[in-house]
Amino acid sequence: MKCRVCRGPAVIDVRRHNANFCGEHFLRHCREQVARAIKGHQMLEPGDRVLVAVSGGKDSLAVWDILVELGYEADGLYLGLGIDGYSPESERFARAFAESRGLSLEVVDLPSDYGYDIRSAARAAKRVPCSACGLSKRHLFDEAAGRGGYDALATGHNLDDEAAVLFGNVLRWQAEYLGRQKPVLQAGEGFPRKVKPLVRLGEREMAAYCVLRGIDYMVEECPMAQGNRHIGYKEALNSIEERSPGAKHSFYFGFLDRAADLFVPPEEERTPIGTCVRCGAPAGSDVCAFCHLLERAGGHLPCDGGDMPVELGRSVPESR
Ligand code: SF4
Ligand code: ZN
Ligand code: ZN
Repeated sequence: MKCRVCRGPAVIDVRRHNANFCGEHFLRHCREQVARAIKGHQMLEPGDRVLVAVSGGKDSLAVWDILVELGYEADGLYLGLGIDGYSPESERFARAFAESRGLSLEVVDLPSDYGYDIRSAARAAKRVPCSACGLSKRHLFDEAAGRGGYDALATGHNLDDEAAVLFGNVLRWQAEYLGRQKPVLQAGEGFPRKVKPLVRLGEREMAAYCVLRGIDYMVEECPMAQGNRHIGYKEALNSIEERSPGAKHSFYFGFLDRAADLFVPPEEERTPIGTCVRCGAPAGSDVCAFCHLLERAGGHLPCDGGDMPVELGRSVPESR
């Protein structure tokens, strides 16, 4: 097996590209794919300040590393979810990476800063844990990006993630979600620009990238992921990809090229967005979904430190 570029011994094959690479040229391939995604989807401009949502896993550490390598000013934000046996370890990986590279990492901890954790919030709000978690992450990452004056918020979603989400949304024809499934969502209505620079790279490539770059990452999955529908979608797509390399890429990028715009609602049909009376975040009603979750989970905003008042109107799920 020889490297496509230098003909030296290859360390990885990327069947989707029908190519093998040595370590050096594989790293270059990863950076090129990210640069191509950024340019092709107008995710970032040179010199942009980026906040990276960091989980301590391979994808978020890799995207942070690549953005810095490409010359962006990129800081990290780690969100502690209060999940025993997972959160403390993943925080250690995030901190160690930032320290080893001299990068700035902000840590927000749900139990100590907001008085709740994902397990108890999910129970109290009668949501599945991943739904309470997703809502918390969206709110707190958006808030931090705005507070820090960043040009964009970057996440480590890779091609496997995006193809699996698309697969699930297509299976149920969830038009509203399909309309938001682009790798870049422009800033607006109080939300920051959101970008997914890894959409041209798969899960296996990200693991190999971390190994070759000497990045230690949290290998164990979050225990709440068990039973998550997306794992089943990923397995289904992996078995298709096995027989037909490139299928995931064609599925996802074909959707972006040919169909994604059809699902974006026209301006006049969009729900008007106001401001949450409690925390000031964009909200579809008086109180945002995050403040409702806090209320049910017995949590508090960092400035409150106390109990939330009991009732305040219906919440509309945050839409991005
Ligand atoms: Fe959050 Fe669910 Fe992911 Fe765990 S698996 S980090 S609970 S979204
Ligand atoms: Zn080579
Ligand atoms: Zn709020």
